[in-house]
Amino acid sequence: MAKTSAQLDAEIKEALRQPTKPANASHSAKALTTIENMGTLPSQWRLTPIDWIEEEREIPGMVTCPTCHGSKYVRIEDGRVIPPPSLNSKDSFDYGNAARKDAHRAGKKYGNCPTCAKSKSGWGLIPQGKIKGIVRAKVMIGYPKFPPSTKFDSRFFGGLHCNLCNKLIMKSHRVPVHATGDDGVTHGMFIGEDCAKKFFDIKLRREKDSIVES
Ligand SMILES: [Zn+2]
Ligand SMILES: [Zn+2]
Repeated sequence: MAKTSAQLDAEIKEALRQPTKPANASHSAKALTTIENMGTLPSQWRLTPIDWIEEEREIPGMVTCPTCHGSKYVRIEDGRVIPPPSLNSKDSFDYGNAARKDAHRAGKKYGNCPTCAKSKSGWGLIPQGKIKGIVRAKVMIGYPKFPPSTKFDSRFFGGLHCNLCNKLIMKSHRVPVHATGDDGVTHGMFIGEDCAKKFFDIKLRREKDSIVES
């Protein structure tokens, strides 16, 4: 599936040929100053092609609750949780029955785990026995294919800020763009989706769980 460098060069050349709409009055003075500082014109900027590759990453998600190990009910004695025995062990059945009684006695028929029961009552969609944590999951990682020797010299380069307007953006919502000025120097930026839409007047398609690498 990997593309040859000749194919990538061809893609980049093609991207450079794509016409973009000329600058319009909606560009803020801030954005115009940013691109002027790099010796470029708004009409010289292009979307940078992205190679999308599925990779396993650690991302925020739901993990099994460490208190109840995912069971709906826990045994509570003197206000403390008695850890549930491992599933399928011989004590598991008795523990489950006793825990259910404890929960009903306390009037918590939808679960009585002190760690995860709260989110159950507030958020109907959160699965029982789960809490927010870090999970390993397959996500789409985008590798921008900037032309060789692209300079990242926007005055707002670095961090998670839009390199055009300096607004904070998410890693998953940034768009790589580049421009070659009249002096032949190519400049690259990561900008926010809002700026990309306004700046280039384009529609962006993006996977739900995706990250664009720098
Ligand atoms: Zn729990
Ligand atoms: Zn911006």
